[in-house]
Amino acid sequence: MSADVDVVVAGGGPAGLLLASELRLGGAEPVVLERLPAPTGLSKALVLVGRVVQALDYRGLLERLGAGSVPAAAYSRFAHLGGIPLEVSGLIDAAPPGYFPAPVPARQAQVEAVLEARARELGADVRRGHELAGLSQDQDAVTVEVRGPRGSYRLRARYLVGCDGAHSLVRKQAGIGFPGTAPTQLHWLGEVTLAEAGLGRLPQQIERTATGLFTAVPLGGGVHRLVVSEWARPPGHADRDTPPTIEELRAAVRRVAGLDLQMSQPRWLSRFTDAARQADRYRAGRVLVAGDAAHIQLPAGGPGMSTAVQDVVNLGWKLAAQVTGWAPPGLLDTYHAERHPAGQRMLSFVRAQGVLLSPGEHVTALRELMGELLTHDQALRYVVDRLLGLDIRYDLGADRAPAHPLEGGWAPDLPLRADSGDTRLATLMHGARPVLLDLTADRRLRAAAAGWTGRVQTAVARTDQPLDGILVRPDGYVAWAAAPGDHNTDGLRQALQTWFGPAG
Ligand SMILES: Cc1cc2nc3c(=O)[nH]c(=O)nc-3n(C[C@H](O)[C@H](O)[C@H](O)COP(=O)(O)OP(=O)(O)OC[C@H]3O[C@@H](n4cnc5c(N)ncnc54)[C@H](O)[C@@H]3O)c2cc1C
Repeated sequence: MSADVDVVVAGGGPAGLLLASELRLGGAEPVVLERLPAPTGLSKALVLVGRVVQALDYRGLLERLGAGSVPAAAYSRFAHLGGIPLEVSGLIDAAPPGYFPAPVPARQAQVEAVLEARARELGADVRRGHELAGLSQDQDAVTVEVRGPRGSYRLRARYLVGCDGAHSLVRKQAGIGFPGTAPTQLHWLGEVTLAEAGLGRLPQQIERTATGLFTAVPLGGGVHRLVVSEWARPPGHADRDTPPTIEELRAAVRRVAGLDLQMSQPRWLSRFTDAARQADRYRAGRVLVAGDAAHIQLPAGGPGMSTAVQDVVNLGWKLAAQVTGWAPPGLLDTYHAERHPAGQRMLSFVRAQGVLLSPGEHVTALRELMGELLTHDQALRYVVDRLLGLDIRYDLGADRAPAHPLEGGWAPDLPLRADSGDTRLATLMHGARPVLLDLTADRRLRAAAAGWTGRVQTAVARTDQPLDGILVRPDGYVAWAAAPGDHNTDGLRQALQTWFGPAG
């Protein structure tokens, strides 16, 4: 029995919606199943931090958010490593232009609205109120059971991607394990209206007291997000499963921060923990997982959206290549090979932050030591690179050492001069196609890549950087680069073949 659709994407959160656009740009036909009939309007994430900002820019989506960015001085006020403030403005001022992505104060609901509109505009079939209820796979396809507004139905897809969040049914039913560390902290979250009286006493950063942790983030219109956790009420505490109430939240803030805040109109009351888990494989046959379905973590430093978005921009073009028939052997498996280690490294960093947010004199001593280390520029730079995910490098194959330091890393947004006018790499990446920039005077790279013009977009330009050329994968990572005067184009041809198949 053949498949009805190319790809079913379970979950219309940020990961699923962006994946749908990536698949459409790659020529595949996705169906997105989202169980919620309409968006809730609530936002877990309040700010986009790290590579996600550049990844969205490379698709032309940042401007659609219209959220601007946080200036370096303001970022210093909320940048922290497990609650230890990071003074980043000097570091950012000293870095090359464009190196540090400025955080974008966009709420998750706003991001999801932009991503959904984009996916629909590109022709993705986004079905709201449709819940994936079960799955099975055979050699040719995945069959999914769907509960829709007008009853249940079945869909057969060549591939299924679980972007269905932390409790992913796809992950469970595909038999993908989810090992990791159990929660040690229980955080209460409330978005409430605060009376004017207490506002002056709210902390600017995470406050770690003798009894717990407390943060307050102003959301505008008198509404604040309060997050509080008490050492005396760990995750196993008896009240874990009772619905949170505003009275509880108020009492907890009083016990932890010594503030008696007048709260009203709760628009969201919830809890979350520091459990850190990761799918043991990102692919099981024709089923893949991405975003929170593949990893869960404490939202310390905001790694969630950045990791989810990079999962799907890594997966999208590879899966589209697979279903449209041009993927070189093994391409789809590089999704796990690249993104699993990146997720593992992010989880390790978040766990370390969780420890710094734990109680006790020993932790206080460790925090003091870390605080002192972070007064050194090199240590600060290392930590900020990890916080923002700027240190991610993919292993481009064991048989080949990188010929240029850019290979395997993020392609910098080069300002370019072309005969048609000034542009930048980010603009050339909007279509999610591989880009070969030929920066040589004799155009030898364009000539060497002539056999790949159907799959790879070649742009002839000039730049002030010491580079002769760069081959950028659709996910924004560098597959190959050449320093000036490097006349050998064998490496370029090899990279084109590895990632984009034989010359056509
Ligand atoms: C309190 C808090 C604060 C956070 N703050 C930040 C921050 O500031 N910055 C940041 O980057 N990250 C933050 N995060 C993390 C971020 O919210 C997540 O990483 C992000 O939502 C992951 O997106 P996703 O699409 O993978 O999963 P989700 O957003 O969970 O989306 C999954 C979707 O799948 C749907 N679904 C589930 N099961 C099914 C099914 N069976 N069938 C159909 N649909 C289904 C759900 O309804 C949902 O819409 C925060 C998280 C929390 C809890």
